[in-house]
Order: sequence, then C-alpha cells, then structure tokens
Amino acid sequence: VSTPRIVVVGAGHAGFHTALFLRSVRWAGEVVLVDGQTGLPYQRPPLSKEFLAGKQELDDGHFRPQSFYRSQDIQLVGGVRVDAIDADARELQLDGGPTIEYDELVLATGSRPRVLPIPGSQLGGVLTLATATDAATLRSRLAGAEHLVVLGGGFIGLETAAIAVTAGKQVTVFEAADRLMARAVTEPMSRYFERVHRSQGVEIVLSSAVTAIEGDRTGVRAVVTADGRQHRADLVVMGVGSVPNDTLAAEAGIAVDHGIVVDPELRTSVAHISAIGDCARFRTRYAIDQPTVRLESVQNATDQGRFLAGRIAGAGGKAFDAVPWFWTEQLGRKLQIAGLTSGADRIEQVETGADHFSVFCYRGDALIGCESVNAPRDHMRARKELAQAHSAMAGS
Ligand SMILES: Cc1cc2nc3c(=O)[nH]c(=O)nc-3n(C[C@H](O)[C@H](O)[C@H](O)COP(=O)(O)OP(=O)(O)OC[C@H]3O[C@@H](n4cnc5c(N)ncnc54)[C@H](O)[C@@H]3O)c2cc1C
Repeated sequence: VSTPRIVVVGAGHAGFHTALFLRSVRWAGEVVLVDGQTGLPYQRPPLSKEFLAGKQELDDGHFRPQSFYRSQDIQLVGGVRVDAIDADARELQLDGGPTIEYDELVLATGSRPRVLPIPGSQLGGVLTLATATDAATLRSRLAGAEHLVVLGGGFIGLETAAIAVTAGKQVTVFEAADRLMARAVTEPMSRYFERVHRSQGVEIVLSSAVTAIEGDRTGVRAVVTADGRQHRADLVVMGVGSVPNDTLAAEAGIAVDHGIVVDPELRTSVAHISAIGDCARFRTRYAIDQPTVRLESVQNATDQGRFLAGRIAGAGGKAFDAVPWFWTEQLGRKLQIAGLTSGADRIEQVETGADHFSVFCYRGDALIGCESVNAPRDHMRARKELAQAHSAMAGS
C-alpha cells in the first residue's frame, strides 16, 4: 500500500497551517503544499501595517524558514498554479502541464481584491494590496507620491490611509457607504475611527461614488466622483473588498455560492475535497443574521486549518466551531473584534479611559460580539464568554 498523499492548494494562512498541524498531529503521509506564488509562505497582516510603514521587511513575515519544510517533510511547490481538478481520477493539473495525484485535496485558495469596474481602474498608479509583491510596489510608489486616494473605507484602505498620513502624505478616502468599515463594525465604532482619521488629517468622503480614474499608463492624475468633480491623486489604492478564488472548484463541479460551499466538517460537495479559509462558505452559529458566511481573517484560516488537519488525521472533533475574531491597527489604535456583531439589537459602550473602550453587542440578552479599542482584556473576556455560551447551547 502506498503512502497516502494530501495536496493543499494555496500556501497562505489556511494552507500553511493545515500542513503544519498535519505534522503536529503526527500524520505520517505525504504533504504537498502548492502555491502560484514563488518564495516562502508568508503572513499578510503586516503588509498593510509594519511592512508598509517601513518597520519590517518581507522576509520578516515568513511563517517559517526553508529548513522547517525540510525537517517536517512538507513538499513546498512554489510558483506553480493548479489549473484544473479531475475529481474522478483524484488528480490535479499543474500550470497546464504535469499532473499530481491526491488522496485528499484541500482547497485553500483564498480571495483576491475586487476591482471596481470603472474607467481607469487598470491604469498604472492604481494598486490593490493582497500579496507581498503588491505591498512592495505600494511601498515604493507611496514614497514618491504626494496625494494618495484610497477607494474604500474598510480595514485595508484605512490601514493604508493611516500609514500614508503618518508619512506626511495628503490622503483622501472615498467610501460608498455612509460610514467606515460598515460591514464589520457598529455605528459608534465607525464614527470613532472617522474622528480619529480626520483628526490626523485624513480627508474622508462618505456616501460617495468614484466613477472614473484619470491618468495614463504610468500614473494617475485624478479621480472623478459621481457629481462630476475631479479630485487630485498621484496614487490610488483600491480597497473595495475581496472575491473568493472559487473558479478552480466551480470548474471541477464543486458547489460554489460566492465561495466554496462546505459542510460542518469543511467538506465540499465532492468526495475527498475540503475547502478552508477565505475561499470557503460555511454555516456558523456566531452569525445571527446570515445563513452562511465567508470570513476573511487569520483566525478563521488558522482554526479551519487546525480542524481539518485533525479530521484528516482522525484526531478531530465532529464539527468546526470557533469564535470568530479580527483585528486592525490604525493610528495607534488597536481594534479587536470578538464574534460577529451584525444583527445586534442593543449595544452597551463601556469606557475605561480616553481611547480605551469597548462596545458590547447583544441580541436580546445574549452577547453576540464585542468591539474593543485598546482594551484587550474586554476582548479576551468576550471571546471566552462567546465560546462558553456556545458550548452551553451545544450541550443543551
Ligand atoms: C494586506 C492585508 C492585511 C490583512 N490584515 C489582516 C489582519 O490584520 N487581521 C486578520 O485577521 N486578517 C487580515 N487579513 C486577512 C488575512 O490575511 C486572510 O484572511 C488570510 O490570509 C486568509 O488565508 P487563506 O489561506 O484563506 O488565503 P490567502 O492567505 O490569500 O492564501 C491563498 C493562497 O492561495 C494561492 N492560490 C490561489 N489559487 C491558486 C491556484 N489555482 N494554484 C496555486 N495557488 C493558488 C494564492 O497564491 C495564495 O497564496 C489581511 C489581508 C491582507 C491582504
């Protein structure tokens, strides 16, 4: 009998941690980690924080050095895209050429930045931020820019704005919604960060649609809003959300619905194929107003990788269950979010000092989430409470 082989597509947070945890639960089969990017697998959060601020280099963000993969007997196949899956033959096609067989396949293909379908979005000088290469380009272009325009007031857009304004750039953020980070946080938290950014000199334009970007192949001059006004820009960062990388799965006949649909054990609709991380859509009790979610966070990617490694190695629990949590850092404020706060019908704000506070979010009497600024104890307490409330429910 030959040794079973697990192939993981994508060496981001989810894929890397699956390989790591497979070895830590002493799974003895082959582990192959394939990624379209070259170089050692790395973490993404520092790209829009320490790295962009010039406080870290790309090498500092590697999960592990090269020697780790050798010592753990993990075959890292970098710079190779998986083009197709033949689920009947349990075989992958790599870069249009060679094939590789699998016994279990893990899709950890992540997500990619959404690009606004407006004139000028493909111009040189319009950047997105998802990979190490993107971050290196942005850092060098930002150094020579005077006026940065950020499209989208979500986490990545605001982190970029924060670093640019700190570096002395003029920064304008255009957000289509009437408040910042609207999909992720409550209104008081949006308003707080709006005040913080404005106080540091970031211009924030809410409820605004950018309809075109003007410039040429090498750079941009201006963005144009729906009211016809032109706003000066010599660099544009598009931070308007992400779309899941689910085409590979869809083309193989796997069920997708704005993400690869998985069951509570993270199995897709096709045997021997699982999906985790940013690309996976799943049901969770922590979401009270959505039937299924796709979460873009290090916590989710790592916890799903751990769960899956355990399941494949026969050492796991019955269903994936982990309290979602997130963080962002902007202008010296660390925002930590426990749970999913959308759908709260009551909130309670508790202040422990200037710029230290938490917003506790309830549905009826039940705590559903907590957003904390510079208040890590509240965050940890909320995570514990959410986990306990869930296990009490699961046990009842
Ligand atoms: C700039 C930035 C800052 C962030 N900051 C935070 C933060 O502060 N906190 C937080 O919780 N989260 C943050 N995130 C989100 C977090 O990084 C993601 O949720 C996490 O990386 C998801 O892990 P993943 O493995 O699912 O996907 P990814 O890390 O995106 O990895 C997917 C990998 O799959 C590869 N791939 C895709 N398709 C193929 C294919 N067909 N063949 C081969 N390889 C393929 C890609 O090259 C990629 O390397 C940030 C993300 C970015 C981009």
